[in-house]
Amino acid sequence: MEKFSSGIKPESWLVSAGRASEPGAPLNVPPIPASNFVLGSERGYSRDDGTPTWEALEEIVGGLEAGKALAFASGMAAIAAVFDQLPAGAVVVLPDDCYLGTVGLAAAGAARGRWTVRRVAVDDTAGWIDACAVADLIWLESPSNPLLIVADLEAICAAPRKPGAIVAVDNTFATPLNQQPLDFGATVSVQSATKFIGGHSDLLAGVVTTRDEALWRALRKSRELTGATPGTLEAFLAVRGARTLALRLQRAQQTAMILAERLEKHPLVTCVRYPGLPSHPTHAIARRMLKGFGTIISFDLLGGAEFADAVCRNVRLIRHATSLGAVESTMERRAAIPGQEHLPPSLLRLSVGIEDADDLWDDLDSAIRSSAAP
Ligand SMILES: *Cc1c(COP(=O)(O)O)cnc(C)c1O
Repeated sequence: MEKFSSGIKPESWLVSAGRASEPGAPLNVPPIPASNFVLGSERGYSRDDGTPTWEALEEIVGGLEAGKALAFASGMAAIAAVFDQLPAGAVVVLPDDCYLGTVGLAAAGAARGRWTVRRVAVDDTAGWIDACAVADLIWLESPSNPLLIVADLEAICAAPRKPGAIVAVDNTFATPLNQQPLDFGATVSVQSATKFIGGHSDLLAGVVTTRDEALWRALRKSRELTGATPGTLEAFLAVRGARTLALRLQRAQQTAMILAERLEKHPLVTCVRYPGLPSHPTHAIARRMLKGFGTIISFDLLGGAEFADAVCRNVRLIRHATSLGAVESTMERRAAIPGQEHLPPSLLRLSVGIEDADDLWDDLDSAIRSSAAP
């Protein structure tokens, strides 16, 4: 499959794809609130056959990864559709640092006897290569959440694997602009479009992309039978968000680098995890896998949970909120989340938005200083 079929750059594709070309058609595919269509074409019922609004989003994301995409109700719906492909008794391998929803979905299926789950450290490349020989589903997430460890996707995706095995990469943190898992040989790439693609914290959506036509059809069947279809307005907003993805990402990751460097020198910060910093344990792998280092930073404070909670209360420009990948900067203490108690108690995950870098720094620095015990 051709990437950006007209030979244009991804930045241009994001703006130009998913538009009608017939004279008189609206330049933007509108939100089409339709369950059913007049019979006589390939489109009868939207849950089975899709809508032009969903297809605009699928064209944009599919083209970015040179595959065929399917839009879902959420990132989790997209992930569940991939798990839905597994035969009974399958072996699933997950990273040790992994999105909590994926861990929960895998655990729930394991508890019902559907599959067994193994965990491998994100940076244990040899462990992943061994797992590829026995796994039915290799589930990778890189950079990981929230420790931002980068997996050697190139080596893992090239490892010999069990026939019919799926290698899936949750590419949400990198976005297709920074990382191309299908080029490395992954079977599917998954996006929570809720995050960077939507980019404005105003929708839930997910996208799965693959170059395997039979798998695409099977995933579409899962979407039809589970009813995990995207909302009309959500798909429209995700398309609108995607138009500015390149600009937003470029700006926010530039700022993230500035903030990460300053945080590293901060007297009240003990550890900064950002794949772009030479001090990051997988910086060398990040340089090979990623075109950009992303917009998420996690850092630990010189102090405990109370100090970190106070910083979250005292930021003004940065919002104390979960989620990531939006125009506004958000921050939260991850160990406060049930299931994440193993993390350093003062670890703050900052999703850098598109505000001015110095304004963000002033906000962060003054919140840290004013929250420190006297
Ligand atoms: C948010 C997120 C998801 C789940 O996406 P939803 O749209 O919230 O269902 C999956 N993976 C990662 C890495 C995420 O950040």
